[in-house]
Amino acid sequence: MSEQTIADSLMDNAKRKKEIVRVSVIGIVANIALATFKAVVGLLSNSIAIVLDAVNNLSDAASSIITIIGTKLAGKQADRAHPFGHGRAEYLTTIVVAVLVLWAGITSLVESIRGIINPQVPTYETVSLVIVAAAVLVKVVLGHYVKGQGKRLGADTLVASGEDATMDAAISASTLAAALVYLISGVSLEAWLGAVISVIIIKSGYEILQEALSKILGERVDADIARAVKEAACAVEGVRGAYDLILTDYGPQRLQGSVHVEVDERLTARYIDQLTRSIQLSVMRSTGVVLHTVGIYSSNAVEGSDASAIRSALEQIVAEEEYVLQFHGLYVDESLKGANFDLVVSFDAPDRHAVLSHVIDVLQERFPEYGFAAILDSDISD
Ligand SMILES: [Zn+2]
Repeated sequence: MSEQTIADSLMDNAKRKKEIVRVSVIGIVANIALATFKAVVGLLSNSIAIVLDAVNNLSDAASSIITIIGTKLAGKQADRAHPFGHGRAEYLTTIVVAVLVLWAGITSLVESIRGIINPQVPTYETVSLVIVAAAVLVKVVLGHYVKGQGKRLGADTLVASGEDATMDAAISASTLAAALVYLISGVSLEAWLGAVISVIIIKSGYEILQEALSKILGERVDADIARAVKEAACAVEGVRGAYDLILTDYGPQRLQGSVHVEVDERLTARYIDQLTRSIQLSVMRSTGVVLHTVGIYSSNAVEGSDASAIRSALEQIVAEEEYVLQFHGLYVDESLKGANFDLVVSFDAPDRHAVLSHVIDVLQERFPEYGFAAILDSDISD
């Protein structure tokens, strides 16, 4: 990558971040305004559902604020103490948001249950209902806008909060519907509706929490990214195959790791050095992934009859054995009568080592004069 394009992409990145923050700020201001109006209306008309709707909007605003703080913290440069950067701060702030949302949901639920046991008579004014109706409209427009911008900027958090806003519009609409039902029939659904809203809030809090915890635990890398990295590596001239891609998530868009590639056994260190640098650059350019290490498997320049027999035996094993997903890095030394390879065995296998031993036994039986050295690989990425 030329320095010019790196500078360009950094600038684009900074611009993108600024726009994301701008859209989030619009969302925050709108949510605080809506929450204030609804809280006043809800308290004046003695409506739990409308007050809870306000709480919901307020927790949305708070999550957006914490999200912006998280993005800022995560953007801090790597330093001696945190050489992989501060990207995971974003997951930690997401947990704070989730706890906040859960807290809002649980308190709402408690309030609603109290209302169900001890019903309060709501007193709706026409003006209150007009305000709630206007709030529904604002929420629909806001949701549409935030989601659209999120898609344009490729920001998942914005898309999610846009969808959340659309769901909130439905919640607000239902408080309005409950008010109309009360005015027409005299039946108050308020507290029950409040309970339903609370459960929706709790559910979304739980989902946010689960996702952040899973990211911190370390997830399987996204299949599209894994494929894109392997494709970029394989596109470099001299690479015969890319395997064992290990990527560690140090925060959104901060993947780092290593990959193994197969190359012709005759390549010199000088050539391989250039090759691995090309892979690192090309992967960085096309996916943004930082590859620290590119491991090398030597593959036979020309496969003799033994080598191709062993290769087809392995291909057959992969096709037939339930838990064997792949083999790679096969190198057969026909003069020394030795072969080595890596075997990828599924996590579903009850005993993964036993699967490898079994495969070696099968090969040993078919090629008794050969010695096999195999490594058990995990199914780490697609
Ligand atoms: Zn391997």
